[in-house]
Amino acid sequence: MGWQSVLPKTDLSKWAIFTGPLYLIGAWLCTLGIAQKFSVPSYPKIAAAVGLVVQAVLYQNSVVQDNIAVRALWLNIGLGIIHFLPFPAIFFKRSNKDRLETLLYWSYAVFAIYTMLRPVMLLILGFTEIKDMTASIYWVATMLGSLLFSLILSGLLLVVAMRDGIAVLREERNHDVLTGLLNRRAFWELAERHAIDRRLQPVSILVGDIDHFKRVNDTWGHAYGDIVLKAVSATMLECVRSTDLVTRFGGEEFVLLLTNSDLEDAERVAQRIREKVSEGGYVLPQGQRITMSFGIAALVPGADVREVVNTADKQLYKAKQSGRDQVVVDQLYAA
Ligand code: GH3
Ligand code: MG
Ligand code: MG
Repeated sequence: MGWQSVLPKTDLSKWAIFTGPLYLIGAWLCTLGIAQKFSVPSYPKIAAAVGLVVQAVLYQNSVVQDNIAVRALWLNIGLGIIHFLPFPAIFFKRSNKDRLETLLYWSYAVFAIYTMLRPVMLLILGFTEIKDMTASIYWVATMLGSLLFSLILSGLLLVVAMRDGIAVLREERNHDVLTGLLNRRAFWELAERHAIDRRLQPVSILVGDIDHFKRVNDTWGHAYGDIVLKAVSATMLECVRSTDLVTRFGGEEFVLLLTNSDLEDAERVAQRIREKVSEGGYVLPQGQRITMSFGIAALVPGADVREVVNTADKQLYKAKQSGRDQVVVDQLYAA
């Protein structure tokens, strides 16, 4: 667009077969970006076919015989179709868009409709003389309009892409790669907040550890150990609420923060996880089932989260000492 703006108007036809593809590729890249952002098809084959047809028309109407009206009409039809390709899929797709995405969506919608209307406007105005066309308000207005829309769209796309990238990084920073559970770092941060949130009281801390996990690795190999870790993690997630925290603290050790749960509720949850894990069908060749042990402590308002995790860990140690596959509750706040 910049190139075309500085070209002497009489040279427009000479350069049409070069400026045309630049327009078409620009439109296609915009369509690709929008389609990828909203996860809809971008129809590259249709776009390529449209581009080729337009390019043939541009050639015929610049090199063979000069006709700017036909060139402008066909180029705008082509750009309109390419811009419009992902529109129906995005329009009919029901997805939760936040404010920025809604803004991007509407900017694109207006842009797509605008590019579709441009050839119609051209037909209505019906220019034939190159002089009239390039000096017309229409020419200046469409140039400015397209430039403005392109800047707004690419700016918005850039901002949304950056924000999505940051969200992915944050997600990765807070989660364990193997199991997808929260990691230790995220747990401390969130647990401090949950501990003082009145709506979430009472809160219990549960420390769980897979029994004799070393044997799983030793008999079946590390890869199978990883499968067991994932299955156990999924089982734990099934047994808790969305406000609860499920953390892989390290190796085969997990820390859970249960909201709106007193010690009795927490014990019930722990027993359910323990039963589900042992019923999970993971049986070692020696005939032992895979089991888990748990220690539980109450996180009363004002208590130090790290101390409570320590207390729960001590109960876990007791569970291991008394034969594993069991749940031990700290008696300090037990009813
Ligand atoms: P206990 O019942 O006393 O907890 O015995 P244990 O064998 O479960 O405990 P121990 O701490 O001796 O061994 C834990 C094992 O967990 C050792 C380590 O190789 C394994 N482990 C830690 N992280 C991973 C992992 O990411 N994948 C796999 N496959 N194994 C892991
Ligand atoms: Mg263990
Ligand atoms: Mg352990």
